[in-house]
Amino acid sequence: MKLEADYLVIGAGAMGMAFVDTLLTETDATVVMVDKHDKPGGHWNDAYPFVHLHQPSSFYGVNSAKLGDDAIDETGLNKGLHELASGAEVCAYFDQVMQRRFLSSGRVSYFPMCEYLGDQSFKSMVTGEVKQVTARKVVDATYMNVSVPSVKPPEYQVQSDVACIPLNDLPKLRQPHSQYVVIGAGKTGMDACLWLLSHQVSADDIMWVMPRDSWILDRANIQPGRSGATIGVEGLAGQMRAIAESESIDDMFAKVQQNGQLLRIADEVKPSMYRCATVTDLELQQLKKIKNVIRKGRVKRVSRGQLELTQGAVTLSEDALYIDCTADALARRPVVPVFDGNQITLQTVRFCQQVFSAAVIAHIEASYDSEDERNRLCTVVPHPNTASDWMRVTLAHAMNQLTWSADASLLQWLGDARLDAFTQPANSTDKPTEAMQAAIANINEHGPTALRKLQEYIELASQSELHTSA
Ligand SMILES: Cc1cc2nc3c(=O)[nH]c(=O)nc-3n(C[C@H](O)[C@H](O)[C@H](O)COP(=O)(O)OP(=O)(O)OC[C@H]3O[C@@H](n4cnc5c(N)ncnc54)[C@H](O)[C@@H]3O)c2cc1C
Repeated sequence: MKLEADYLVIGAGAMGMAFVDTLLTETDATVVMVDKHDKPGGHWNDAYPFVHLHQPSSFYGVNSAKLGDDAIDETGLNKGLHELASGAEVCAYFDQVMQRRFLSSGRVSYFPMCEYLGDQSFKSMVTGEVKQVTARKVVDATYMNVSVPSVKPPEYQVQSDVACIPLNDLPKLRQPHSQYVVIGAGKTGMDACLWLLSHQVSADDIMWVMPRDSWILDRANIQPGRSGATIGVEGLAGQMRAIAESESIDDMFAKVQQNGQLLRIADEVKPSMYRCATVTDLELQQLKKIKNVIRKGRVKRVSRGQLELTQGAVTLSEDALYIDCTADALARRPVVPVFDGNQITLQTVRFCQQVFSAAVIAHIEASYDSEDERNRLCTVVPHPNTASDWMRVTLAHAMNQLTWSADASLLQWLGDARLDAFTQPANSTDKPTEAMQAAIANINEHGPTALRKLQEYIELASQSELHTSA
């Protein structure tokens, strides 16, 4: 069986969907999409039933279709902030985009339940049939390598008489346990703790295994502005000022925390992790109630009544329930050029904004001819992992933003893009408020020093990481 198309896109997850959507809007290209899942949306199909977006729906999904109603939550721990679509809503949204926009355009052929084999061929996981594609370009929309607990067994050993479940199975609980042990301190671990607390489990009965403490983003700072497209100008100004006025890396983190840009669960512990997790103030207050935090490294083995970790062991209740939240979500992958001959590898060009990044890459593909220029405009901002990565992504993000701002047509595109919550729309009739004008002046004043300091600190952190690993 042979197929022909301009683009062969491997992966119909959020990034593949956002890329194809922009390509359909801005070109007349034809596309073949291949994915192992039965439905578009990628890892959202495997997510825990109580998952929600960690950022407002108003700038998630694809550029051409709204997700949600831009409502403000009136109840719950996200109260007062823009709505967060549930996992089920995200999946339904991508399914509709596929059916109503992609397939009905007549330009997209979609092959679910198919595995890419390489060399522009793929195989149906249902019939075994292999199809060969002839495409001008191959787009790798799988590179972020997202892994979630339900599809990945834990890396530690679990004895057979121990109750250990992925957090997906929490809503299936039918019997209480005297202790609930949440393994993992990323956003998924936080969600597991919040779920338990919301179901009236006492904080004293929750043990939280936290191999690393994390810097966390305050979701209140990641909200669309009243015009629907500006966020955080004041926040950014405060951040620039804090960095510019800092005297060391520790002092910088302290100042950025003081000004509300970064949060942490325990003020007495220096975080070594940063993975773009977001919480609200209400969520943070809940998480702080959990005092039984196990900081003894990573789990090696779970036995009845005992947890062995890399830095010691802990005795726990015999009927404890272990909740695995250790999958990596987005891994830190080696950076490769986004545009490389007939290969496009989707990666983040703005920190932790995967769908926005995929849409920008499609726009650049559609609008710029030279590969050098395309790659210059798509400098990769790799997914962060360590606290020092906060500095790296903040700097890389600022540099990309400066490069884009120097290109008037790109700036206009960004301003009009639904997925871009940072850039002011070019046709906005909103007059900047006094506070915003002051913030912009502040950025202009402190920006250059802040960027220079970030460069210095990154150099220092890299040297010390090199030293530690040696
Ligand atoms: C719990 C959770 C909450 C999140 N919340 C947010 C949020 O609020 N905002 C945000 O911006 N990001 C969020 N993220 C990050 C999120 O991962 C990205 O937004 C985005 O969904 C990543 O999509 P992707 O297309 O890169 O990856 P995936 O969703 O993993 O999609 C890749 C697809 O490729 C397919 N595939 C892989 N290999 C092959 C192959 N060989 N052949 C065929 N198909 C293949 C897979 O089946 C999959 O469907 C969240 C992540 C998690 C885990």
